[in-house]
Amino acid sequence: MIRPGPWRSGFAGPYRGRLTWVDDVWDLVIVGGGPAGSAAALRAKQLRPAARVLLLDRADFPRDKACGDGVAAHGRDELALLGVPDLIADYRPTRRLTVVSPGGARVCATVARPNHVVPRTVFDARLVDAARARGVEVRRHRVRALAAHGGHIVVDGAFTARAVVAADGANSTVRRLIGVPASPARHTAIAVRGYADVPDDDDVQFIAMQKEGWPAYAWSFPIGDGTANVGFGMLLPRLHATGLPGREVLHGRLAELLPHLPARDLRAHHLPLSPGRPRPGAGRVMLAGDAAGLVNPLTGEGIYYALVSGRLAGEAAVQAAGDPLPAYRNALRKALGRHLRTTDVLARAAQSPGFIDAAIDTADRRQEVFDLLVDVGLGAGTVPLRLGCAVLGRWILNGVRRG
Ligand SMILES: Cc1cc2nc3c(=O)[nH]c(=O)nc-3n(C[C@H](O)[C@H](O)[C@H](O)COP(=O)(O)OP(=O)(O)OC[C@H]3O[C@@H](n4cnc5c(N)ncnc54)[C@H](O)[C@@H]3O)c2cc1C
Repeated sequence: MIRPGPWRSGFAGPYRGRLTWVDDVWDLVIVGGGPAGSAAALRAKQLRPAARVLLLDRADFPRDKACGDGVAAHGRDELALLGVPDLIADYRPTRRLTVVSPGGARVCATVARPNHVVPRTVFDARLVDAARARGVEVRRHRVRALAAHGGHIVVDGAFTARAVVAADGANSTVRRLIGVPASPARHTAIAVRGYADVPDDDDVQFIAMQKEGWPAYAWSFPIGDGTANVGFGMLLPRLHATGLPGREVLHGRLAELLPHLPARDLRAHHLPLSPGRPRPGAGRVMLAGDAAGLVNPLTGEGIYYALVSGRLAGEAAVQAAGDPLPAYRNALRKALGRHLRTTDVLARAAQSPGFIDAAIDTADRRQEVFDLLVDVGLGAGTVPLRLGCAVLGRWILNGVRRG
């Protein structure tokens, strides 16, 4: 279904008129070379090596991206599926995780499968290089306009495509051009990240949640080279409610929660949190990663979702070339549907800090609950009734004790 908006009238943005010749048709044009865009490119070429795939990004790589740089084991599974299993094998695996809840409950445990912390300047550039090596054409180009024309999409009047994957991030231009609304403010977070010096042997991922302005938390993710990615994030409406300049709040709370880790290179960005049902696109345009609002509302994790959705969009583009969007929508629902509905329900429950206190408290007592939280927060996990009841029971018990 093509949604109303500028898209329907055929042309959107400043471009009017000129079209490229049909022999120049690309099987797939991808807008954005982050994890979602590179995954789409890698998958399309993996399944159909002869496909003509063009990857456009407004930046040259390597480029920085404000992020916690945390790549969970689930993300590495995706790298393996994309045929690049060793992409980050030279980075130190991290097994230990400590989480402090808003009310002060604490769990320090070992994750079932290690996480990695890889600066995005490195991670994204390696993915783009891998796509290039597979035959994807990579060009620096900022996309401003789209047109639907005779079963094709014309991008900026310069590139004609059978399908487009919009992987242009949280403030996606393509999403706006096709008339898909952005995440509402209540589903948008903002976070700042920086880098700090830590001892070389610091190998604990640390998350400190904050009751004030909840949901809000700071993190320290050691990379393994004597530095750690540190940051602080909160919901946008809670930031606005302070009435203070965003920079002052974000930088101030980071310094307050991690006073021993003074940060440099601070950089902030929005996170479009998943509202439970992704918006997969319109016509022959598929939205992936942040452009589809695919960020875990409990943790802010988005790299795994970007890799999954990018892979599925690339797959639909070459395997269902006649009409890729329905194929993509179904595949996305199959891969993440139940999980996204689960995180939506949990994010609502987590509006109460007491629920998170109970979850962390239970995770400290039961390794299987800890593992489940990791799976739901960083992967595609869902909650078995038995373990959900264990957390609910603890929540009620804590409430009774406080009462
Ligand atoms: C502070 C912070 C911390 C985070 N920490 C983590 C974490 O530790 N782990 C995790 O998994 N997730 C984390 N996330 C979320 C994660 O960064 C995103 O979910 C992830 O980057 C999404 O990937 P993407 O490919 O969809 O978009 P992006 O990585 O944003 O890539 C979009 C690309 O599109 C390009 N682009 C944009 N507009 C255009 C245009 N008009 N034309 C051409 N190109 C364009 C950009 O240059 C960019 O390269 C964090 C986010 C923030 C803000």
